[in-house]
Amino acid sequence: MNPVLIVGAGIVGLTLGQALKKKGIPFEIYERDLNPEARGQGWAITIHWALESMFKMLDKSTLSRIEDVQVDPDVARNDSGNFLFINLQTGEPKFKIPPNVRWRVNREKMRRALLVGIEDHVHWGRRVTGLNVPKDTNHVQLLFGDDTYVIGSLVVGIEGSRSMVRQFLRPDAFGNKKLGINFTGVAVDLTPEEIKPLRDMDPLLFQGCHPPTGAFFWFSMLETPQVNGTAGTTAERYRAQICMSWPEKGPEDKVASTDEARLINMKNRAQGFVPFLQKAVDRIPAGTTVTEIKLADWECLSWDNRGGRVTLAGDAAHAMTMYRGEAANHGILDAYRLMEAIERIYSGTLTTSAAIDEYEKEMRDRTSRAVLLSRQACKDAHDWSRLDETSAILTKRAVVGS
Ligand SMILES: Cc1cc2nc3c(=O)[nH]c(=O)nc-3n(C[C@H](O)[C@H](O)[C@H](O)COP(=O)(O)OP(=O)(O)OC[C@H]3O[C@@H](n4cnc5c(N)ncnc54)[C@H](O)[C@@H]3O)c2cc1C
Repeated sequence: MNPVLIVGAGIVGLTLGQALKKKGIPFEIYERDLNPEARGQGWAITIHWALESMFKMLDKSTLSRIEDVQVDPDVARNDSGNFLFINLQTGEPKFKIPPNVRWRVNREKMRRALLVGIEDHVHWGRRVTGLNVPKDTNHVQLLFGDDTYVIGSLVVGIEGSRSMVRQFLRPDAFGNKKLGINFTGVAVDLTPEEIKPLRDMDPLLFQGCHPPTGAFFWFSMLETPQVNGTAGTTAERYRAQICMSWPEKGPEDKVASTDEARLINMKNRAQGFVPFLQKAVDRIPAGTTVTEIKLADWECLSWDNRGGRVTLAGDAAHAMTMYRGEAANHGILDAYRLMEAIERIYSGTLTTSAAIDEYEKEMRDRTSRAVLLSRQACKDAHDWSRLDETSAILTKRAVVGS
């Protein structure tokens, strides 16, 4: 049979590829990046409730490679999994949610771990520019910029929040909704002394809101000395991520175009934070790259899947903000459900149309709710008065639909 054509070799696309390989179903993945190292994917993500699906669909060696790229293997061994949200003015915890099994992994390294074993099916430097779903056939064509195309049984667009396949499916409404909140972040190297007060708060990550201004701060570990090989040397260093976001109320709240101005903005907004946090922002060195992440989402609207031959998964299907830290978890669950649907198609137990309709129904019910909860969590995170036990920041990360 024709292969499944996957657009995008992000973590969800590669997870689906691995799952299909395990089932013996043919697939090919097309990725616009020239190679796996072409673009740093420099942040860490927490996989929590999707671990269960990951265990079911990936083989043992892939799972152990992913487990190995946790940001802090020592903490991982005895992780109590707190979710910590603090008052940035006082440093006092506002919420401390008890343990939950989680893997906090480096996203770039997870992508590389997922590549092992399916390298021959991942085609780098192949930007997909269009699709063609010929009538009265049971196949679909993926088109590339150089006028070439490939044929498959179905196309899955997993190429992130600015998905071309989404645009094909919903040309009238493919754009993400902006949330009016701006976000910048840096990755910095810190000495053991510099990082200590941050790790004392939580060794992996914590976040908080500054009550007077509504500024949001996020600390997250990227590499420990054990991981980057500096342990025991005189140059021992940790690498961490420091991010901030704030509501855009006027022109002064826009994200500047230069790193220098972005860094000054972060330092200004950290004025009035509890001293150890203000210091952590103040000491970010001049010249550091300050990355903007545009906060916008897409509610998993409906689309015509052309008899099941074109569908979406991951951020392409349901872009959401990271204030509940579950977008990739939903993407991984999509991959699991899609693997089940595709297995039924290839074994002949269900038609393509019925299997993909069923996949999309579950995914849309589950994620349209999740997108809205993440949107609400994003708003709540910038308004101290809204932060209570009912806030979307805390509402259980449910794996169910509305
Ligand atoms: C700061 C931050 C922290 C986060 N933390 C968490 C967390 O803790 N937990 C969590 O669950 N989620 C988290 N997320 C969300 C998570 O990172 C994403 O949900 C996840 O990476 C999406 O994976 P994906 O494979 O769907 O898309 P992507 O990772 O965006 O991959 C898409 C791929 O498609 C390729 N592509 C794009 N267009 C084309 C084209 N036309 N042709 C071919 N290839 C193309 C891209 O180059 C890319 O490689 C976080 C996000 C951010 C920004």
